[in-house]
Amino acid sequence: MEPLGLNEIREKYLSFFETKGHLRLPSFSLVPHNDPSVLLVNAGMTPLKPYFTGAQTPPSLRVTTCQKCIRTPDIENVGHTARHGTYFEMLGNFSFGDYFKKEIIPWAWEFCTEVLKMPADRLYPSVYEEDDEAYAIWRDDVGVPENHITRLGKADNFWEHGTGPCGPCSEIYFDRGVEYGCGSPDCKVGCECDRFIEFWNLVFTQFNREPDGTYTPLAKKNIDTGAGLERVACIMQGVDNLFEVDTIRKILDTVCAKAHADYGKDPETDVAIRVITDHVRSTTMMISDGVLPSNEGRGYVLRRLLRRASRFGRLLGIKDLFLTEIAAVVVELNKEAYPVLLEKQTYIMTVIRKEEEAFLRTVEQGTDILTGYIAEAKEKGLTALAGDQVFRLHDTFGFPLDLTREIAQDEGLTIDESGFQAAMKSQRESARAATKAKTGTAWGGKELPAELLQDTSSTDFVGYDRLTASGKLLYLLKEDEESMLQIVPEAFAGDKVIAIFDRTPFYATSGGQVTDQGAVLSTGFHAHVTSVEKDAAGKFLHSLTVNEGTLRQGQELSMHVSETHRMSTARNHTATHLLQKALRTVLGDHVEQSGSLVSADRLRFDFTHFQPLTDDELDQVEEMVNGIILADMPVVTRVMKLDEARKLGAMALFGEKYGEEVRVVTVGDQENPYSREFCGGTHLTHTSQASQLRILSETGVASGTRRIEAVTGAAAYALSKSEKEILDAACASLKTTEDQLVRRIRAAMADMKALEKELSNLQEQNSAGLAETIANKAEVISGVSVVVAKVDVEDADTLRTTADQVRDHFSNGVVLLAAETSGKLLFVAMATASAMAKGIHSGNIIRETAKASGGGGGGRPDMAQAGGKDTAKLADALAAALSTIKNQLGA
Ligand code: ATP
Ligand code: MG
Repeated sequence: MEPLGLNEIREKYLSFFETKGHLRLPSFSLVPHNDPSVLLVNAGMTPLKPYFTGAQTPPSLRVTTCQKCIRTPDIENVGHTARHGTYFEMLGNFSFGDYFKKEIIPWAWEFCTEVLKMPADRLYPSVYEEDDEAYAIWRDDVGVPENHITRLGKADNFWEHGTGPCGPCSEIYFDRGVEYGCGSPDCKVGCECDRFIEFWNLVFTQFNREPDGTYTPLAKKNIDTGAGLERVACIMQGVDNLFEVDTIRKILDTVCAKAHADYGKDPETDVAIRVITDHVRSTTMMISDGVLPSNEGRGYVLRRLLRRASRFGRLLGIKDLFLTEIAAVVVELNKEAYPVLLEKQTYIMTVIRKEEEAFLRTVEQGTDILTGYIAEAKEKGLTALAGDQVFRLHDTFGFPLDLTREIAQDEGLTIDESGFQAAMKSQRESARAATKAKTGTAWGGKELPAELLQDTSSTDFVGYDRLTASGKLLYLLKEDEESMLQIVPEAFAGDKVIAIFDRTPFYATSGGQVTDQGAVLSTGFHAHVTSVEKDAAGKFLHSLTVNEGTLRQGQELSMHVSETHRMSTARNHTATHLLQKALRTVLGDHVEQSGSLVSADRLRFDFTHFQPLTDDELDQVEEMVNGIILADMPVVTRVMKLDEARKLGAMALFGEKYGEEVRVVTVGDQENPYSREFCGGTHLTHTSQASQLRILSETGVASGTRRIEAVTGAAAYALSKSEKEILDAACASLKTTEDQLVRRIRAAMADMKALEKELSNLQEQNSAGLAETIANKAEVISGVSVVVAKVDVEDADTLRTTADQVRDHFSNGVVLLAAETSGKLLFVAMATASAMAKGIHSGNIIRETAKASGGGGGGRPDMAQAGGKDTAKLADALAAALSTIKNQLGA
């Protein structure tokens, strides 16, 4: 057996199946398309389901792929077993009703023994216990001795998923030798240890499981096989586990270098190293397929893996940010098989760095809060942290549960696990209720009649280059008394109905672009089209309000799209493409569309970027778009093969799955365009038709996502006009002209400042006069000038200034002033140095004074202030002040 590299094995597998008549397809995205049953693709067959079920026609009856997979249910095994990763690549070959067991079993054997040159005596196939057919093929056609074939039960060797297609499997195991065994006397194929390692699963989909639990044979039998690429490499290279395979080992070594750890010295350290290696691989691949960290769905899977990697890094003693350094190695080693990694490298790194930073902040913040909870629990003499507190840390602050558990443990506390689970459950339930309330289909949640659903034909859309067309009315739907949609034969003036025609020029809401509006006419009949939606089969459902006449099934009608509405929408749509390009030019290639709304009156574009745009950046973007509008570039739409579009470098939507034929919108020169995007929307034919673009706002919508709202055409004109009105009003108020406006405003502001200054000077003079009057009333006690008085001032600042001024009248004096403002008392006390030498302490005077009026306070010997609550006690407070002063002076 030659120690083949991981990349070589991938190529050998795919080309082997090409020689067996298979079409090689690239890996599908990790984000499933139109398949809510899984969060992330977890097997080679997952993205091919529509071909297996017959919902779509496969491009070939034999297909082979190497599919990126994520399996988070295996997370607890990762790092501990030799054979599990959360991310791995699955080699697979598929037959859609074409070949079956008789072909695939000998091919699998041929690939293992002749291409990979695995020694036959170390290979052990297993079959489902009742599958005599597969058993016989292994024994008789391939020649595997009976003591190498194992029959296993349903749990291991029967693939089924509720009702629907299912069937037996046959798995191929490799015996890595006794040294890998668990030592148990009945260690054999099927044992959970890592001696007999399963590396290839052949699934024979031959039955349909009926709702009553019986199995009926399928007319078209399928083959679906899956072999873990890393597992095969592990066997071929004779290494201990997946993470020591050539390419992955380089990632693992980088982790070791970062942690200054020696691999293979300490089992616990080794697990942490493997976990980090695995998680950085998974997350890098997920981000390159458009997943962003969030608190739900796959975003949460990503967040959890990144945080877990960061946690394990801390456990290894890594102090600084380190995940991007590891991710860079992942990119380097996989860039040939997955070029998107290189294209999106900066973007991937930014996402990882931001998340790692945020997590470290979370840990810091959470630790503080947790310390508080621990102190509280100890004070109350509890032995466990309350479940709701643990949940709050986890849910609100994103603090990892295991970390809470660990820190609590260090402090001799446990956590109330069942209380935590209860809090979690109640939160889940309310979240579920919230989602339920939100969901609803395009039809305002209304189900279409069954008869309509059975008809899978689609409407012929002719509206890309025409605004009028004639069409035959196929179905008319109306709500019955129970608000259910029913097929009706006719509709009359005043009715609101849904109409389906064989052909239409109306664009239906899709791809972020709003519906067309317009009218449907025939002699004596007129209806307004308020909106158009598409159903799953591609039928266009027109919402009509009948104004006049009668509408009948089978009738031919003429349809007219509102040109103003269509053109306004097209202006915003073409401008959105220009905006996207300008953002990428100004900000960088990490900018990706993450959402968009194109309507007739404005456009909204959401994109990935990690900080607010500066004014300068916004200016540049707006200017660039307007430059392209003025340049009057052609906008050309072409339908082409997916491959060709990709070759031309057309921008696709992240994670979007496209059919064989795609529509591509190009702005500018065909050879060297300004922008080229996959797009199904309706567009201008020349950029100048947009007239101009004005950005209205730039805001943040989620971490790492920004939003720009803008207007074009008539709305941009209206905006300029309303700005002009504001300007005119401002000029009129200041009695000036536009060109003098700014100068006038500045001059007025300067005048106002000067007046304010003058006012405050006057006030100061005023208080100086006041101070003098007060000082003149001083009483001399034991040789010290004493002032205790109430003054009429408005605020604490003036009170302090006045007290300052009074004190400055004396070489040896003490001052206590009181004032009443907004129903409260204010006190300030001040003393000269010589008065302090005689025993005066302002802080103590203030304390007694405040106390006497229901307040509190204190301060330094030379200066102190405080407040009092009860204004009725002012006289008492002043008396207390005087007697304290006398006491201090021994008088
Ligand atoms: P195991 O019992 O070892 O977890 P499985 O029965 O879950 O494997 P299948 O669902 O049959 O595996 O997947 C097909 C192939 O994909 C397996 O034979 C194996 O080579 C590979 N594979 C499955 N899970 C993983 C994983 N977590 N990491 C790496 N490879 C995997
Ligand atoms: Mg498994």
